[in-house]
Order: sequence, then C-alpha cells, then structure tokens
Amino acid sequence: MPWIDKNKCTGCGLCVRECPVDAISMKEGKAGIDMDKCIRCGKCHDVCPQEAVRHDSEKIPQEIEENLEKTKELMEKFGTEEEKKAFLERMIKHYNKEKKVAEKTIKKIKILMGDEK
Ligand code: SF4
Ligand code: SF4
Repeated sequence: MPWIDKNKCTGCGLCVRECPVDAISMKEGKAGIDMDKCIRCGKCHDVCPQEAVRHDSEKIPQEIEENLEKTKELMEKFGTEEEKKAFLERMIKHYNKEKKVAEKTIKKIKILMGDEK
C-alpha cells in the first residue's frame, strides 16, 4: 500500500489530480491517502516529483519495532516470570496466526493471477 512521506511532500497536488478514484486530498499543504478508497494503481508513486509516495515495505522495520515495543509494554503488566512467559507465548501464537492469514491470502491472490491452483 502506498503512503506519503510528509517530510518530502511539497504539496504540488500532482498526485491529487492523477489519482483515478479521488483517494488523495490535501491537508495543511500535504497530500494524504484515504486507504479505503485507494485501489493500489501506483499512479501517485509514478507522478510524484519528490519521491514522497513510498512503498509499504519500507515501513517493515518500523512496524517490527512497534510490535516489539507494544509486546514489552504489555509484558510489564504481568507480575511473575511464568505469567510473562505465558503472555509471550500467546503473542507468538498471535503473530503466527497473522502470518498464516497473510500466507493463505497470498496463495489465493496467486490463484487469481493464474499462477497456482
Ligand atoms: S505529487 Fe508528491 S509532492 Fe506533489 S502533492 Fe503528491 S505526494 Fe506531495
Ligand atoms: S495508488 Fe492509485 S488509487 Fe491509490 S492513492 Fe495512489 S493514485 Fe490513488
């Protein structure tokens, strides 16, 4: 999914004009994407002269760090080492479930592409 680096966006409005589904609007001189409307066509990325439209994958390290911070924060709410360990095991189960959902979704999308059966 695309996202806009507000530090790079100069507010030129090119992406707003090019977006085929009006998913981009300006707020305080910076572009912002309504992800509910976005159809992931990539036009905004192609037209931006500032390379302000970034790819989702660039956020992976930041998201991992956020997940880890949240886990540590919640872990502190448990008193004993056993409780903390049980909590961490539940978090592993949670992320394993997320991983499975993602893997199965990718498999189904590949079927849509005709790559797999
Ligand atoms: S094209 Fe780039 S610089 Fe211009 S408004 Fe869109 S994101 Fe900002
Ligand atoms: S990817 Fe396409 S639909 Fe989504 S915001 Fe950019 S131009 Fe609009």
